[in-house]
Amino acid sequence: MLGKDSDPLSFNGMTAKPGTKVTGSLKVAEHPDGSAENIPYVIINGRGEGPSLWITACEHGDEVLAAASVVEFVNQVKPKEMNGQLIAFPVLDSTAFNIKRRFSPIDSYDFSRAWPGFENGWLAQQVAAQLFELMVENADYVIDVHNGMPGIAEVTPYLIAGYERKQQWDGGLKDFAESFLFEKIIHWVGTSTERGARTSTMMATLLKEGIPSFVPEVGPDTETGLKVALRGFENSMKFLKMLPGEPKKLPTYQAFPDVIHIFPTRGGVFTSHVALDDEIKEGQKLASIRNFSGEITEDLVSPAAGIVIAIWVLPMIGSGDFSAYEIATFDEFKKPWPGER
Ligand SMILES: [Zn+2]
Repeated sequence: MLGKDSDPLSFNGMTAKPGTKVTGSLKVAEHPDGSAENIPYVIINGRGEGPSLWITACEHGDEVLAAASVVEFVNQVKPKEMNGQLIAFPVLDSTAFNIKRRFSPIDSYDFSRAWPGFENGWLAQQVAAQLFELMVENADYVIDVHNGMPGIAEVTPYLIAGYERKQQWDGGLKDFAESFLFEKIIHWVGTSTERGARTSTMMATLLKEGIPSFVPEVGPDTETGLKVALRGFENSMKFLKMLPGEPKKLPTYQAFPDVIHIFPTRGGVFTSHVALDDEIKEGQKLASIRNFSGEITEDLVSPAAGIVIAIWVLPMIGSGDFSAYEIATFDEFKKPWPGER
């Protein structure tokens, strides 16, 4: 199995000598007909000593831009120029990914809320349990890539950093997260957000084990998303001294203490009055929803000032759809607000 000082690196019965790359697939569950649920991986064992960085994607099967960014990146890394170990899992929810769905129809479970998993749980929880064990054993750093809800809700590039105490942010996570060079960082701090404590995310469970991780949301389109993701992976690896070269630092970026979701309560034609990246004021009208008679049944209004970081892009919306907007707020959002999922 994986070991932090293993040299050569062994994984799933395969061995990567220093300066080499191996690809394979890991059996993570068994289907009723006896066939395996496998997830593909690429591992690169660098030439010299260094940390173990895990990069994962497609907890949500429809987020193919996230998967593509990982595949493209690992293909351009030259193992002989690398230090440490890079463990990439471009697709965590295999069934969902292969049928272009967000959740697997086998369990209809949100993979990104399946952590730390357990071995006789739902499919997503079984996969999470296996990966979590491997991560705790091997990972020093983890980057878990997402890309909004493709074709439904698009995102501007932003990074989520979750932690419970300021010391965790200052004690390593800050520099690691900033090395990804995203211009917007959202802080999920303890229970301070609208969403409360998110204890079932990969990020939250890794934090308990002392493994720094963050979630980049890449987008809004393929070209931009790939560009920012590849730049981020490369710079973070330079920061970790896994790749040669000086890491860049952004001269400035925006940090947000909170994020809120705007949920519609009515269904119909959705007309947005704002765009991705717009700065909005508290009380500003964001969108109108009209019924099939043409009457406005709901105006969506922002309860706080901030920046639009995710936006519903379909022309129709239904009550409770996730979500018309995500607003990164300039101040901590302390009002009660419905809608944690
Ligand atoms: Zn996602």
